[in-house]
Order: sequence, then C-alpha cells, then structure tokens
Amino acid sequence: MTRVYIALGSNLRDPLDQCQRAITALAALPETTLINTSSLYRTPPYGPQDQPDFLNAVVVLETALSPLALLDHTQRIELEQGRERKDERWGPRTLDLDLLLFGEQFMTSERLVLPHYDMHNRAFMLVPLAEVAGDLPLGDKGSVASCLASLDTSTITLW
Ligand code: ATP
Ligand code: CA
Ligand code: CA
Ligand code: CA
Repeated sequence: MTRVYIALGSNLRDPLDQCQRAITALAALPETTLINTSSLYRTPPYGPQDQPDFLNAVVVLETALSPLALLDHTQRIELEQGRERKDERWGPRTLDLDLLLFGEQFMTSERLVLPHYDMHNRAFMLVPLAEVAGDLPLGDKGSVASCLASLDTSTITLW
C-alpha cells in the first residue's frame, strides 16, 4: 500500500457538497483506504480573479492502485461531478482532484507528473497538506514547511 495525498478544489455548484461527494467517492475506490482529510479551507482563486473563492482540502489515502490507475479514477470522479474542460487555464470548476504525492514516486509522463509540478508555489495546497502530513519533503523543492514559509497564507481561512 502506498500513501497518497490528493488536493481537492471546487468553486462551482455548492463546493461543500462537491467536496463531500468527492471524499465519499475516493473512500469507495477499490484497493484503497481513506486515512484522513484536512480541514476545509476557503482560498482566493489562483490565476483568473473573476471567479468565486475556492474550497480547498487535502485527502490522505492508502492505495494498492498504480499511479495511472488512481488518476483514471480521480478523472472519472471529476467528470461524474460535472467537470467541464474549458479553454481558460485555472478557471472555475465543480471539482479538481490533483495528485500531490504518491509515496516517494517520481514520474514525468504526459498524463501524470509526480510530485505535483507546482505545489511548492501554492499555499492553498500546502496549508491543508501540512495539516495532515506534517513536514514532508517535496522532491527537490525543500519541505512543506520551508515552502510555506515563503508563501502568503494570510488570505486562507477556514470554510
Ligand atoms: P494545474 O495542473 O496547474 O493545477 P489544472 O488542475 O486546472 O491545472 P487540469 O485541466 O485539471 O489542470 O489537468 C490537466 C492535466 O494534468 C490532466 O489531464 C492530467 O493528465 C495532468 N496531470 C499531470 N500531473 C497530474 C497530477 N499530479 N495530478 C492530476 N493531474 C495531473
Ligand atoms: Ca453537481
Ligand atoms: Ca489543479
Ligand atoms: Ca487538475
């Protein structure tokens, strides 16, 4: 079993409901156990500012699935919850599930980059991650705590 950290984001169509349904769906995955869930946070949008605030959280799983099999499931869950592909980068969405860390796995393929390529720059990922993971190493980017120390967390509140 591998410990996996998944970042969850939603800012459309009742984010709290989206989040609860996503956690239920993740907990129901085959060969997978839900270990923990962070607090739910309210964060300003990353990128385009003309959209609602996001609900962000991190879910901890233990899984025997492969990284790509897990990605297949998270992308299916996104679609089942009405995710639409739009041209605008970082636009509004019902549900975004990003794999942050998959054990100590490093991977760079067209579909999957592990660890997540930009998490060290995103307080909305690292604040909930620190809550459930403590101070983990982020590949060559330093630790969660050292990355967070150089980011602005002042706009992040509890949902
Ligand atoms: P960002 O990836 O910068 O947070 P985004 O989440 O809005 O932006 P998406 O449109 O959700 O981007 O995903 C684009 C592609 O990223 C997906 O089709 C997926 O194959 C790929 N991808 C690469 N690495 C990961 C990862 N660690 N977790 C989830 N998807 C990933
Ligand atoms: Ca919905
Ligand atoms: Ca994302
Ligand atoms: Ca994504």
